[in-house]
Amino acid sequence: MNPRGRSERQGKVILVGAGPGAPDLIAIRGADALSRADVVIYDYLVSPELLRLAPPNAELIYAGKKGGSRTAIEQSELNAMLIAHARKGRRVVRLKGGDPFIFGRGGEEAQALARAKVKFEVVPGVTSAIAGPAFAGIPLTHREHGSFVAFVTGHEDERKGESSAIPWKELAAAAKDRGTIVILMATARMRATLRRLSDAGLPAKTPAAAVEWATTAAQRTVLATLSTLADACAREHVGAPAVLVVGECAGLREHLKWAEKMPLFGRTIVVTRARGASSDLAADLRRLGGEAIELPTIEKAPPKNFAALDKAIKNIDSFDWIIFTSANGVESFVERLKSLRRDIRDLGHASIAAIGPATAARLGDYALLVAAVPDEYRAEAIISALGARQIRGKRFLIPRAEVAREVLPEILRKKGAETVMVAPAYRTVKPKRAQVERMRELIASGAIDLLTFTSSSTVTNFCDLIGASAKHLKAAAIGPITAATAREHGFEVVVSPREYTIPALTEAIGEYFARRPRS
Ligand code: SAH
Repeated sequence: MNPRGRSERQGKVILVGAGPGAPDLIAIRGADALSRADVVIYDYLVSPELLRLAPPNAELIYAGKKGGSRTAIEQSELNAMLIAHARKGRRVVRLKGGDPFIFGRGGEEAQALARAKVKFEVVPGVTSAIAGPAFAGIPLTHREHGSFVAFVTGHEDERKGESSAIPWKELAAAAKDRGTIVILMATARMRATLRRLSDAGLPAKTPAAAVEWATTAAQRTVLATLSTLADACAREHVGAPAVLVVGECAGLREHLKWAEKMPLFGRTIVVTRARGASSDLAADLRRLGGEAIELPTIEKAPPKNFAALDKAIKNIDSFDWIIFTSANGVESFVERLKSLRRDIRDLGHASIAAIGPATAARLGDYALLVAAVPDEYRAEAIISALGARQIRGKRFLIPRAEVAREVLPEILRKKGAETVMVAPAYRTVKPKRAQVERMRELIASGAIDLLTFTSSSTVTNFCDLIGASAKHLKAAAIGPITAATAREHGFEVVVSPREYTIPALTEAIGEYFARRPRS
């Protein structure tokens, strides 16, 4: 599949750092690269939330590297895959956890690309080596407590045998003298690694911390000392992924811990979005420290063919009416107008009708006033809103979804419209199966603290996608009608704000969790 004739162009690979876990810690440039990707090859530690930034038709490939276990795809195979996709002229985003050039073999991938003469770029990411300590309230440097920082692996390549490439002795000596050591891939051999430092002379009482699943709802931090950290972590069952921080700076956590104090720290909340709706709610929840998992129940994509719409836009002054049947239709129509380099004033002649208030509001965003909008949200109701005189002998354009009910054009024709042109402006696609499966897994593992519903259709769409397995979950509903629908579907509605807005809903969710102790 190559609709834009990419095969003639040279492809490239962009090594993108996904950040440490929280999806909003990716760089703007990384997000931009994702939004233009033809192929995304992603790792285990990458937030699945980020994959939604890729275009709906992008190919998503899981490279399945899981700390400790064997890699699902061998590195050589992965390199070959990157090269092969790029040579087909595709834009390949290689999405890697944290920063692509801090451990995790980004350097090796770049070498392979350079050898193969495949163009590549690197977009740095927030490494867990920095974000982990930051989210635990540990500054890595400090005028009094830390003058340098070292990132080291706790999992050296076994092929190197017994002799370590890491100068533990020098590190220990330096750390004793106001340095900070951050150890990644540290859990499997934590005890041995820490002992290396104490054997090399770092005092037993040196502060040491472990930060597990930093920046996610599962974040946990254990603060101890060089001699007690391994036992403390064993007691708490701290596992991968975790970073260790050793040095005086680690002790600053006692006064500087902040993430745990956020209202929604440690809470995982599902945001079910109606199609095309913006995700203000997810952003609000993240701002309060929660992990928001978005499940767009229906997504928008370009239609398979723009021919009808382009023809209509070319002859736009031949229409008496343009009827929009959804906010998505409005957006897609205006986008297409722009890409054909037409002016909104070219619509001058035609009157505009909207099928409901949300569609009318979206038109209003473009300063387009509607001449007719029915009280009732039904295709049939637009007929009475227009009035019979406005239909007979008139020419209609309906830019809308590729697959939609035929009722409206049929009625218009029956009422004597001269022409009714239906032009596909977009296509609705269900979310990727992987997203649905991931949601099912999260529900089954008990990771979800709350579902949020912002309309009755988000309830019904969610149930259609996920099935009955979510019925035991607690829900927040934006208003009484949505709450009633959620109850009808078996959910326990525990949050329902007095005012029916996203900010009020967010606030009510914050209050709800403030009353509930963390488990
Ligand atoms: N390139 C990545 C590191 C890859 S190596 C980066 O810059 O972050 C994988 C190791 O990173 C894990 O073993 C763990 O030590 C660390 N890590 C990655 N994500 C983490 C997270 N959310 N919390 C704590 N440690 C993490």
